[in-house]
Amino acid sequence: MFMTLPLNLRMLLQMLVGLLCAVGASGTDNGTAQPGPPPLLLVSFDGFRADYLKRFPMPNLERLYSQGVLVEQLTNVFITKTFPNHYSLVTGLYAESHGILASNMYDPVTHKSFHVGGNVSDPVWWSEARPLWLTAQDSGYKTATAMWPGSDVAIGNRTASHFLPYNSHVTFQQRLKNVTKWMLGDEKEPPAMFAALYWEEPDRSGHIFGPDNDTAMSQVLKEVDANVGLLVEELTSTGLWGRVNVLVTSDHGMAQCSAERLIRLDDCLHPDNYTLVDLSPVTALIPRQDPEGVFDLLNKCHPHMTVYLKSAIPDRLHYRNNGRTQPIILIAAEGWTIVRNGNQLPRLGDHGYDNSLPSMHPFMAAAGPSFRQGYRVGSLQSVDIYPLMCRLLSVPAQPNNGTLNRARCLLVAETCWEVPVMVALVVGVLLVLTVITGESGLTSDTRPLLYCWGFCPCSHIGLTRSSVFLIIYF
Ligand SMILES: [Zn+2]
Repeated sequence: MFMTLPLNLRMLLQMLVGLLCAVGASGTDNGTAQPGPPPLLLVSFDGFRADYLKRFPMPNLERLYSQGVLVEQLTNVFITKTFPNHYSLVTGLYAESHGILASNMYDPVTHKSFHVGGNVSDPVWWSEARPLWLTAQDSGYKTATAMWPGSDVAIGNRTASHFLPYNSHVTFQQRLKNVTKWMLGDEKEPPAMFAALYWEEPDRSGHIFGPDNDTAMSQVLKEVDANVGLLVEELTSTGLWGRVNVLVTSDHGMAQCSAERLIRLDDCLHPDNYTLVDLSPVTALIPRQDPEGVFDLLNKCHPHMTVYLKSAIPDRLHYRNNGRTQPIILIAAEGWTIVRNGNQLPRLGDHGYDNSLPSMHPFMAAAGPSFRQGYRVGSLQSVDIYPLMCRLLSVPAQPNNGTLNRARCLLVAETCWEVPVMVALVVGVLLVLTVITGESGLTSDTRPLLYCWGFCPCSHIGLTRSSVFLIIYF
């Protein structure tokens, strides 16, 4: 039924569609020689839950994204912890693909253990992926990092060209000063083209006070916003503001916990039955014997905890396919805390829960010569930030789980077909066709027919074939 259009009309439609696709592709791969790309500064404020932006005044951050773009929510990766998500931001990979699966890990091949807060600098943990500070170096750029998780590790025997070893006592301002110094370069060292800066707040306070504590959180977010102010000030005073792209984001959100919402493992299973690798809100454990029996006991343990054998972990979590994923994982429901026993609540706020929960989502804001101004989108995947940064730096991306298509609309140099624009175009085409078909006597039958847009691969401009169709009356 789709092929009953007269040949000349079909050709006309094909020409129109081809024209749209060609226009859509313009500005993406037009082969025009470009000057070098602007440098890129990536900043993460750990644990910045997306809705803090709506709940608390953030004048400096608002000023930044009013001159650039805002992604109101990022769907991050499971588990929604700091190390897995920071590595996903700079690799575009899910945790199962980059191998940093949690804050506490055990590797059954090397028999090594990993603990955030302890020794995390053994390269073996990080070597399943190559972060952007190394990929950018492969393109001949200098790179710089200040406390970004994993950035003081010699991954494949290399670190960023400049880096600060992790030290929580180094202030935001000191980290920033180092980063701008490296981005400016000097007579000995060319400027760094990519820099990544990490700051521990508002995560630290979110754990201590809980995200629902308005008084405490408004104070810490005031400080975080003041740091954004410092960032813009420092970039302005060094002449970098307006010349560099700045991307401000975070790794995860925060959920309110309570002593009323504790799940006690010892109530269900004697600790002699398993080895504990990680505890809450995602427990990873190795059964000592009879995995099915351990699973059955845990499965009945608590209505607010989901239990998976490794082989049954849902695809959507992208967490199953790694040797470091333990034989059984338990996932607490939002705001619930898994403990071994007792009534002690370890933290008033926590994260790590299912990445489909809005409370786990961070945000992203960006400004600079490559970004549109005053543009806002509802959501993106955090794995999309890596291909976006590769595009910004004009470096070839390593294989990754993200796509530039979803982020393309943020960029000023990319033609972006948004739904309202497409609707207007389709209506316009329909009007033209109505006139043509009316004049050529083709309207004898008023049956509506669908002419599917199936002959132009428009995915490179952010459209899918199924999303666009023309309704033609004749
Ligand atoms: Zn945290």
